[in-house]
Amino acid sequence: MGGFLFDDIIFGPVKSRRLGVSLGVNLLPTDYKFCSFNCIYCECGWTDESHKKVVLPSRNDIQERLESVLTLRKENQLPIDSITFAGNGEPTLHPDFAEIIEDTIQLRNLYFPEAIITVLSNASIIHNSKIIGALLKVDKNILKLDAGTEATFQAINQPKGNLKLHQVVDYLKKFEGKLIIQTLFVQGFNQHKGINNTNEEEVNAWLKLVQEIQPESVILYPIERETPENTIHKIDIQMLNSIAEKVQEIGFKTEVFY
Ligand code: SF4
Repeated sequence: MGGFLFDDIIFGPVKSRRLGVSLGVNLLPTDYKFCSFNCIYCECGWTDESHKKVVLPSRNDIQERLESVLTLRKENQLPIDSITFAGNGEPTLHPDFAEIIEDTIQLRNLYFPEAIITVLSNASIIHNSKIIGALLKVDKNILKLDAGTEATFQAINQPKGNLKLHQVVDYLKKFEGKLIIQTLFVQGFNQHKGINNTNEEEVNAWLKLVQEIQPESVILYPIERETPENTIHKIDIQMLNSIAEKVQEIGFKTEVFY
């Protein structure tokens, strides 16, 4: 399955329940996904490893495209609520990510100072202090944590290289609470192995990690669209709500998007 790809650097805006009128910024290629994970539920499809030389949009192109869209929206009195870094893969893989965030803050302040800047990241390369510094400057730093155990992390997120869950947790702790955890709960199979981050053992292990990380809040959600692995399924709302209750019981603000 090919998956859905954004075909431009700037996309939308889309009306998001989480972020309001959200103008997307895609720092990745427009014709394939570039990511350090290969999540079994990824809406962009499987991570394509065949590209030897990945071509990313330049910092200048991104700045110019963003400014032209913001100028047009300002002239037409069409405000936005969020400039959101998402797109076809992992935004922090762009080598100029920190500088692009600086540019975006300046443009936001100039055109729509009331808008927030949001980054959705899988937290896989945030050991880099420049990236941590950039993420600390954005208004919503939303970072992925889909598992409480190593086996489930490997099964759901399929990280590249030798990345381990404890490393991701260590990275997340470096934000000292200035982050939002985002977790997708899912059940099913992948290559005949069971996938389930919703059972008691997994949820308890994940809750322990949430306590260690101490995020501002936690976002829970299920599969929403078509997935590359079609043997996984959307969990029901009652199950998601019952996990949300457990997060609230340990003292964290929680939002469920179903
Ligand atoms: S981290 Fe995001 S972009 Fe990367 S594979 Fe997972 S869902 Fe897809």
